[in-house]
Amino acid sequence: MNTSVSIVSLGGPIDGFAILVHGGAGAVPEARRAAHTEGCRRAAAVGAAALRSGGSALLAVEHAVRALEEDPLFNAGTGACLNAEGRVEHDASIMEGTRLRAGAVCAIDGFSQPISIARAALEDGRHVLYAAHGARAFARAKGFVPVGDEALITPAARAAFEAARGTEGASGWAGGTVGAVAIDASGGVAAATSTGGLINKSAGRVGDSPLIGAGTYADDEAGAVSTTGHGEGMIRVAAAHTAAAAMGRGESAEAAATLVLARLAAKIGTSGGLIAVDHARRWGLARSTVTMSWALVTGTRDDAGI
Ligand code: ASP
Repeated sequence: MNTSVSIVSLGGPIDGFAILVHGGAGAVPEARRAAHTEGCRRAAAVGAAALRSGGSALLAVEHAVRALEEDPLFNAGTGACLNAEGRVEHDASIMEGTRLRAGAVCAIDGFSQPISIARAALEDGRHVLYAAHGARAFARAKGFVPVGDEALITPAARAAFEAARGTEGASGWAGGTVGAVAIDASGGVAAATSTGGLINKSAGRVGDSPLIGAGTYADDEAGAVSTTGHGEGMIRVAAAHTAAAAMGRGESAEAAATLVLARLAAKIGTSGGLIAVDHARRWGLARSTVTMSWALVTGTRDDAGI
C-alpha cells in the first residue's frame, strides 16, 4: 500500500452552518481528479440545500452521502468495489450528536442506498448495527427495494477487480469511500460514511466505515467526524472517536484530524484521511494519502479540492 505521504491539513471558521464531504482517501489518477472534486461539490450542494431549507445536520449528511452513493465514480452505492467473490458488499453508518443516535449496516448486498438503510436503523432505534442477511431483511421490512448486484457493478469496478485479482491476493485499496459531516444553525452535528470497502476484500470483511467510533462519530459537545483510508488501521485507533474526543477537549477539527493520522502512522504505519466539524464551529480535514477529494459549503464559503 504505497499511498502514504506526509500529512496535509486544511481548516477554518464556519459561518452559520457547514456541510463538508469527502470522496475517499487514496491516490486518484491525475486524469480523474477534476471529476472526483466535482462529484464532491455536487454532493455538498445537496447537503447545503437541506441545511438552507431548515433541515437538520442529520438530514444534510444523509442526502449528501446518498448523492455520492448514486454517483458511479465513487466506491459507495452504485460503482462500489467488488470483493474476492466478485460481489458488492456495502458498509455504511450515520450518527447525530444531540442524543447520540446511530444506525449502521455492514456486509449488505443488493441495495443501492446503504446510508438511508443506516438512517432507518437510527430512526428505528432498536439496534445500531445490522449485518449481511439480517441487514437485507431489515432493509426490506423498511420498504427498501433490492436492485441486485448487476445494477450496482460498473465496468470500472469490474476492471479494477480483475486487475487486483491478479496480484498476490492482497486487497487493493479502492479509494472513493464517501462521507459527510455537518453542523446546522442550532449547533447540532452529524456524520455519515458509506463504502464498498477494499477491492478484492474477503467476503464478510467489515471495515471501519460502518463502525461507530471508527468510521463515524458525532457529539454536539465535541464535533462530527467521517474517516477514510485503510480500515483495519482506523478501527485499531478508534479513529472517529479519537478525533471527537480531541475536539471535546478543545482541539480544532483540523488539529483533531491531524493527530489521528499522526497516531496511525506512528503506531500502525497505515494512512488515510478524516473530515470534521467541531462544536466551536470550525471545519477541518487532513490526509496522509496522495489524494482525498472534498467539498465544503458554509453560510459564506463554497470550496472544494483533492
Ligand atoms: N475505510 C474503507 C475500508 O477500509 C476504505 C476507504 O476508505 O477507502 O473499508
